[in-house]
Amino acid sequence: MRRLLLALPFALLPLAVAHAHDDHDHAHGTLAAHEHGVAKLNAVLDGNTLELELDSPAMNLVGFEHMASSEADKAKVAAVRQQLEQPLKLFGLAAAAGCKEDQQALESPLFGDAAKADDDADEHEKGHVHSDINGHYQLTCTAPEKLAQIDLAPFYKAFPATQKINVQLIGPNGQKGVETSPAKAVVAF
Ligand SMILES: [Zn+2]
Repeated sequence: MRRLLLALPFALLPLAVAHAHDDHDHAHGTLAAHEHGVAKLNAVLDGNTLELELDSPAMNLVGFEHMASSEADKAKVAAVRQQLEQPLKLFGLAAAAGCKEDQQALESPLFGDAAKADDDADEHEKGHVHSDINGHYQLTCTAPEKLAQIDLAPFYKAFPATQKINVQLIGPNGQKGVETSPAKAVVAF
């Protein structure tokens, strides 16, 4: 994933990459495609453009990973989706950097994404159903030099089942991986 991020424009990363990664885990004997409580965030600051890619088990955000059928479950999914549609309320960015959202894409079997639902059907046969929620965001910042850090505290507050977010940052100072937690939620570029 790290290598791919360097080579590819971030928003163009195909979903197939994430699937291939899951398969890789399976090949090494890991039944779970992901670890509940743990999410991944890739952040790339390139010029005025900030790209954020969140990859989280649905469990962390919604509290379940099955397709919503009850009214209560559907309402929960809709509420979470609404939260995820407002990245500036989840990812704390310095106001002085003037970052505004350009585009976003949210994907999950829980949102009715057919390709991923097929993928989950395979896992179901093995007795494990896991669903991720992916969020891709592209923002433009008028003063990116003021964007010294990303504060994930609002995200942890919004989704308290998230215990850890592994962050990969690429910015003017190079690339680094940072493990964040609710108690250590700020990552510096
Ligand atoms: Zn799961």
